[in-house]
Amino acid sequence: MTEKNTPHRGLMTDAVHAGETPDPVTRASAPGIVTSTTFLADAGASFSAEDFGDATPYLYSRWKNPTVDQLEQKLAALEGAEAAVAFGSGMAAVTALLLYNLSAGDHLVISDVSYAATAEMTNELIPRLGISVTKVDMSDPENLRDALRPNTRLVYAETPANPILRLTDIEAVAGIAHENGSKVAVDATFASPIGIHPLELGADYVIHSLTKYICGHGDAIGGAVLGNRKDMAGIRKEVEIRTGGILSPFNAWLIQRGASTLPLRMKAHETGALAVAKFLEDHPKVTRVVYPGLASHPQHALAARQLKNFSGMLTFQVADGANAAKILADRLSIIHYAVSLGHVRSLVFYLPTDEMLRTSFRMTPAQERSYRAFAGDGIFRLSVGLEDPEDLCADLEYALAGVPSTTPR
Ligand SMILES: *Cc1c(COP(=O)(O)O)cnc(C)c1O
Repeated sequence: MTEKNTPHRGLMTDAVHAGETPDPVTRASAPGIVTSTTFLADAGASFSAEDFGDATPYLYSRWKNPTVDQLEQKLAALEGAEAAVAFGSGMAAVTALLLYNLSAGDHLVISDVSYAATAEMTNELIPRLGISVTKVDMSDPENLRDALRPNTRLVYAETPANPILRLTDIEAVAGIAHENGSKVAVDATFASPIGIHPLELGADYVIHSLTKYICGHGDAIGGAVLGNRKDMAGIRKEVEIRTGGILSPFNAWLIQRGASTLPLRMKAHETGALAVAKFLEDHPKVTRVVYPGLASHPQHALAARQLKNFSGMLTFQVADGANAAKILADRLSIIHYAVSLGHVRSLVFYLPTDEMLRTSFRMTPAQERSYRAFAGDGIFRLSVGLEDPEDLCADLEYALAGVPSTTPR
């Protein structure tokens, strides 16, 4: 066979081609789905994951599956990582990362604001394993310096943070953590690999909820951890194979199909979000808009420096948000009032600050002030989809017309 030319490829080319090869038997151009749970083995093949390695052939789909493999290679290419391990959800990926790195007696430092389930897991389940946890507002990297201890094995940041879109300077955080010998993990779900490459900025691990931008269509849940080959092999063998939080081949196929258009979709999400953010900023009933792409974002300079794409996530506030939420849920027709994000469809959801502080976040008074500086009494988290931005603005205009201008007394 003729040798192919393999020059360095751009992200759009990798999004389409990485991990994929024409099927050698059928010569099918598009990837198929291998649903088989088991694979014919050579006599003498090991029955234990103890002997599992990169060169181990397919044996059982909880260990390794060709369709999931393809997705992992595509994700690694998009992230510029040596390797990726895919999971059945973003939370399964977070769990595996924490279990791989932390043992009883270790200390974890984590953003005081992170995805609700991550925050809640580190409030209760993780401390129950004998791992101590300190929550830090990492928007000021100096706060991290004060929190580090000799046994701090892992520093975990989320940027932009769900739900308030506060940013962390990954380069600064990684510098401080590494001086202390601590590893750094970044949940970059909101930015996607098109917006930020935490590994290039010094992080050791990246987490993505594949459910969001990478799948992009709101029809498959998945997650991934990315990093160096040795750690990914360890996470796969020590945690994923043995705890079982694997991604199904069908979801892997849906997600890799979605991922092929990620670069194009992120451009459109950003364009749409900027248009909607500006519209909301000018709207008389909107008291605050937070979007990293707006000059009004308190960390816009950091956003401009570290984000190559501002993504499609924004928050806005109106007077008496709890009442407005009922009105918006009722009056919006294009934008769905629903949780989740990163989909082709626009989604909005109201997150009252008191409720978030009660259910998910354990904060010091200073941390609460920082949270409220971004979120006030509550925020509408809006995931701007791929509809015409003018239609989204018109939908919001109509819905906001039903919201009283001032809080009734
Ligand atoms: C959704 C989300 C997760 C969890 O992912 P699932 O796929 O829902 O388990 C983790 N981190 C962030 C930032 C998220 O938005």
